Amino acid sequence: MHKDGATPAPMKWWGWGEESVSFTHEGKPELAPFIERHLKLDVRRPGTPPLAFEALEISAPVLSAPLRARLEDAVGAGHVSSDDQDRVVHGRGKSLTDLVRQRRGDLSRLPDVVVRPGAEDEVVAVMEAALAADAVVIPFGGGSSISGSLEPEAGESRPVISVDMVRMNRVLGIDATSQLARVQTGVFGPDLERQLNAQGWTCGHFPDSFTYSTLGGWIATRSSGMQSDRYGDVAELTRGLRVVTPSGVLVVRPVPSTSTGPSVREMVLGSEGRLGIVTEATIHIRRVPAERKILGYLFPAWADGLAAMRDIAAGETEPSVTRVSDSYETAFSFATRTDPTPLDRVKSRALQAFLKRKGWDLEAMCLSFIGYEGSEGEVAMQRKQTERITKRHGGLCIGSSPGALYDQKKFDTPYIRDFLLDRGAPADVSETSAPWGELQTVYDNVMAAGYGAFDELGVPGYLMCHLSHSYHAGACLYFTFALNPPAGRDALEDYGVVKRAIQQAFVDSGATLSHHHAVGTEHAQWLEEDISAPGVAMLRALFEGTDPGANLNPGKIVATGRDREPGETVPRGESSRTNGGTGEPRRSLDARRASRPRS
Ligand code: FAD
Repeated sequence: MHKDGATPAPMKWWGWGEESVSFTHEGKPELAPFIERHLKLDVRRPGTPPLAFEALEISAPVLSAPLRARLEDAVGAGHVSSDDQDRVVHGRGKSLTDLVRQRRGDLSRLPDVVVRPGAEDEVVAVMEAALAADAVVIPFGGGSSISGSLEPEAGESRPVISVDMVRMNRVLGIDATSQLARVQTGVFGPDLERQLNAQGWTCGHFPDSFTYSTLGGWIATRSSGMQSDRYGDVAELTRGLRVVTPSGVLVVRPVPSTSTGPSVREMVLGSEGRLGIVTEATIHIRRVPAERKILGYLFPAWADGLAAMRDIAAGETEPSVTRVSDSYETAFSFATRTDPTPLDRVKSRALQAFLKRKGWDLEAMCLSFIGYEGSEGEVAMQRKQTERITKRHGGLCIGSSPGALYDQKKFDTPYIRDFLLDRGAPADVSETSAPWGELQTVYDNVMAAGYGAFDELGVPGYLMCHLSHSYHAGACLYFTFALNPPAGRDALEDYGVVKRAIQQAFVDSGATLSHHHAVGTEHAQWLEEDISAPGVAMLRALFEGTDPGANLNPGKIVATGRDREPGETVPRGESSRTNGGTGEPRRSLDARRASRPRS
């Protein structure tokens, strides 16, 4: 824990979460054979740890004495740090590319100083000091960015200030009548829930990175949590805002809806620090539900699961979670089961025999989780109505233990990336959203592109998917992939081939470049294909108009001002593969039908 006792200690500089926590295959008897079968990787062998911190070459900070003095005046000397560990931890987020480069000791441009303001007037003073010195300001929440939203630009010659919001972590007030809470944005997920729960409320936002991400980061990336079906994404949860910008404090009133021209609230959502530092938000809250249940279901095949989720979204019930995995992810989930008891074995054999008798192909079957919340009566009613739909699509309820296990383990899953990287295998995620009518096509195109990329590289790989976050018009598809490049190959290059193939298949299929992981630098090359050239021009005008000196997290989302070459539409170094700049989907893909494994 951090010194204040309410926030987690900073994450390890080379990986996810706490030093003392790690993922292991031990106690999961089917996992090592599964990974060996699909990735040709023996995870029973000990891994290679990253470099020792002492072996890193850390450049000296570029920070003039007058700027340091002004920052110390702004926040207090004890909250200004140029400590090596602080600078390294604040230099990047936790994307796969970030993790690999950290492990290799390739640190690139580090922030020169980390400041930790304790109140909005201190943030204003930091902003004024930074602008007066023509310094770069990068807001920092939990550092869990997965799209390259935190790293200073390579070769940045101006001083770089990382503004860590950790001290601004309080719920300032609750308006029970309006079901709104005013909250400082440096609060981490668990601390926010702790403060709200103490008064009988919840925000209901639970991203997988919940433990290590903050309200400000969620707002700046348009985050989405596992219970978004009921509570909404952060874009819906956030009503009012206070943002320290170069021209003063921007205030968005917490009204339910407004007709004041293009929405300034929406401009701040997803702005990744390019418009200012969000200091406070007024967010929706709801009463902590009396009952909360996540049940497991099986569907005969992916198409059945998709159709069931679509019909649930179109119906009157409001489950908190609707999620279905494809057969590849289902096989992976089953492989991560812990040592079964003799009774579990009997039950599992009986279930398999039953499904076979019903004519199911067990390799095609798909695991689903559906969550219900409310009073006991509401949960029973939601369940009854939802199960009418699941049954219509061949679904079978398998009870509460798989859902309870998923709920309990979900925040531990991110540690698996470090476990695989210790053994040289990159693993990552890419997510998108599309209308219900397009989801199967998007899925097929992405699977063909991903497995095609493994084939092209000649490396063993595994790609799997689930649907989560359902809306009236469509849903999110969340892909997870891993590959095992042979020794001597650059794992990051091979990883890049697969990641680009998947992302390209998203935009070519008419889906978005990201449903909730944001643009940063890692997804910027697909922005024009997603939102069209005039869309990019509007964003650029917004950023340049708000921040004429390009002091606020430059180079993220779109390149602006001094970080752009004439005629360039995406940050330097990224190749733009515009689809004629129209933003229209390219329907026919030359995706190779690749040799996908049977799970
Ligand atoms: P940071 O990473 O610190 O910053 C992200 C961006 O926001 C940066 O551009 C930063 O400058 C800006 N920023 C941060 N605070 C402020 C502020 N106060 N004012 C202005 N700008 C600010 N995302 C999801 O939505 N759902 C998930 O389920 C999910 N799961 C994840 C699982 C893993 C393992 C990982 C590594 C990431 C996951 N993410 C997920 C992505 C990430 O957690 C989100 O993008 C999150 O919203 C980032 O919050 P943060 O506080 O860590 O922000």
